[in-house]
Amino acid sequence: METTSTPTHCPYCALQCGMNITPLPQGGVEVTERPDFPVNRGALCGKGRTAPEVLSSAVRLTSPLVRSGGRLVPASWEEALGRIAERLGRTREQYGPDALGVFGGGGLTNEKAYTLGKFARVVLGTSQIDYNGRFCMSSAAAAGTKAFGLDRGLPFPLEDIPRTGCVILVGSNLAETMPPSLRFFSELRENGGTLIVVDPRRTKTAEQADLHLAPRPGTDLALALGLLHLVVAEGRTDEDYIRERTAGWEEARAAAMGHWPEYVERITGVSVPQLREAVRLFCEPEAAMVLTARGPEQQSKGTDTVGAWINLCLATGRAGRPLSGYGCLTGQGNGQGGREHGQKADQLPGYRKLDDPAARRHVAEVWGVDPDSLPGPGRSAYELLDALGTDIRSLLLMGSNPVVSAPRAAHIEERLRSLDFLAVCDVVLSETAELADVVLPVTQWAEETGTTTSLEGRVLLRRQAISPPAGIHSDLYVLHDLAARLGVEKGFPTDPEEVFEELRRASAGGPADYSGITYRRLAQENGVFWPCPATTGVTDEDGEDGEDGEDTVLDGLPDDPARDAETAVPAVPSVHPGTPRLFLDRFATGDGRARFVAVAHRASGEEPDAEYPLLLTTGRVVAQYQSGAQTRRVAELNAAAPGPFVELHPRLAARLGAAEGDPLAVVSRRGRAVAPARITTGIRPDTVFMPFHWPGEGRANTLTNPALDPTSRMPEFKVCAVRVEAAES
Ligand code: SF4
Repeated sequence: METTSTPTHCPYCALQCGMNITPLPQGGVEVTERPDFPVNRGALCGKGRTAPEVLSSAVRLTSPLVRSGGRLVPASWEEALGRIAERLGRTREQYGPDALGVFGGGGLTNEKAYTLGKFARVVLGTSQIDYNGRFCMSSAAAAGTKAFGLDRGLPFPLEDIPRTGCVILVGSNLAETMPPSLRFFSELRENGGTLIVVDPRRTKTAEQADLHLAPRPGTDLALALGLLHLVVAEGRTDEDYIRERTAGWEEARAAAMGHWPEYVERITGVSVPQLREAVRLFCEPEAAMVLTARGPEQQSKGTDTVGAWINLCLATGRAGRPLSGYGCLTGQGNGQGGREHGQKADQLPGYRKLDDPAARRHVAEVWGVDPDSLPGPGRSAYELLDALGTDIRSLLLMGSNPVVSAPRAAHIEERLRSLDFLAVCDVVLSETAELADVVLPVTQWAEETGTTTSLEGRVLLRRQAISPPAGIHSDLYVLHDLAARLGVEKGFPTDPEEVFEELRRASAGGPADYSGITYRRLAQENGVFWPCPATTGVTDEDGEDGEDGEDTVLDGLPDDPARDAETAVPAVPSVHPGTPRLFLDRFATGDGRARFVAVAHRASGEEPDAEYPLLLTTGRVVAQYQSGAQTRRVAELNAAAPGPFVELHPRLAARLGAAEGDPLAVVSRRGRAVAPARITTGIRPDTVFMPFHWPGEGRANTLTNPALDPTSRMPEFKVCAVRVEAAES
């Protein structure tokens, strides 16, 4: 592998910051700024800056492991892959294909997500596939699809934020989850716009707001309805827009009018003057946005909650207009692409519905199989994990660590232990991999090429910069090999570009149409926004209708972005430019109108009572990422955030007799977690907060409630009833 600098993207969150990586003569790689990428303009958070450490980590897996005598011991790839194929085949023979489960991740590249979905349905024949993205933004996806006919996290680029008039940021702590994105909001305020943050905690993000609303956890739906009530009462609706571009207003209006401001104040704890101020700030400018993240989405009423915030945008004429609209800030690195290409229980590539006969015919034709052979929709992520060891006997898991990240995690850990067979692909021995019968060590971001789709719907090329260590293979290699061992010799290439070419064909004509995007374009442009249909038919790079291709497109291109800019081949005139902004003319519904939803406040899955009198909400800290499988292995990040904590208000701490750092036990109906106290006035006195990145006795997800949203099947990570008591130090 060459030693020149390679422009690529961070392996972690959905911002997908651009960075350059350069192999060092003494080994390892160096990360340097990549100012040409417009999203982060060279800025990186500590996670991105230290990402190379995981590439050369001493705890990295370097050989397959198989369980023998109760222990995981090194084995050859031949033995490990042979064992997986044999056990999956045996399970299928004994119990049928739906006894096989497949669990993916929102960090997998588009190529891997696509191949994993195809592998489950074509090779294993199982309907039982879902992924951890179900735990991430599925409520926003469901609400966006209902309202607009299409879900793309942000229907506009981040660069629109500084030029709008007001942003309501609901349940997002960007200062800790994606710090480089904060500059868009600083610029918004510098330009005279305002930022309203809705969060039960005064987070680092809330500290930067013009107005901070701190509702009781689980009441964001009531808050949005209260704001809509005031919008109507104060005559701030956009009647022309409602008439011309929406449907369902009367029912939604009637539902909101039942939510009087005083009633909403009682439910949420947000005062009527604050509600009025929020409405004023949101409605006075020409343009405004609402952006949601996990706060309102990870609730058992997440879809309705997001729907209520979308109603607010629609009633004020602020969706599908320049510099206005609703958007979801997806969390995981490929959270957007991960839900578009078939690893979701109910979907096929191109964001097509699995139960749509035309979609099945199209994808089956690309795959060269009979549409009737494709299984139907399967269980959602939590339901799939809950069925392990009973209906589902063997599981193949890639890119996920549910022992730490799933709700009711002790129960899920027990379900994983009860499986007949578990195979895990990972780069380190995660807490889930520790339970496996076979563990396969796979390549990481800088060692492989692939595409991701950022929270903006911008498809990006992550380029290989270094060779993987000897003896390590990619997830695509694993699926290719297993397919062959299970009798499917063709259709599972190991070359990511070859997979992408097939993905283009499979997505053509679907809601998430990638057919006009090629690796060549991605290497020349700073990403391409979908939908991007092929304007001259979908062909291979070397095909008759496309651009002149080369055998390996990336090999033929320079790696230096400055040189790229000078020598870039002008875009072929017939290519589609991509779609940075959606819905400006019409929404993606049959009649082009957006849909209001008529929703009303309802209680969370669990409300406090005498035994569990407090509310727990969970979230993240800046130095750790998701289940921490990678970031907990980075010394600098571990030093900054070495373990969990229980954040609580001084009044609650005084009632408990707890001082800063005292060990506290947080107890819910599902278990107990112990962590030191962190006392702050920045949290409501009726609420405690725990970050969820760690396993063991401080595992926050031991406590969380798997009450599911009826539409999205999202578990209720953001609110459950707990009690807090002193623990032994
Ligand atoms: Fe990586 Fe996200 Fe940090 Fe950017 S903000 S460097 S994408 S973890």
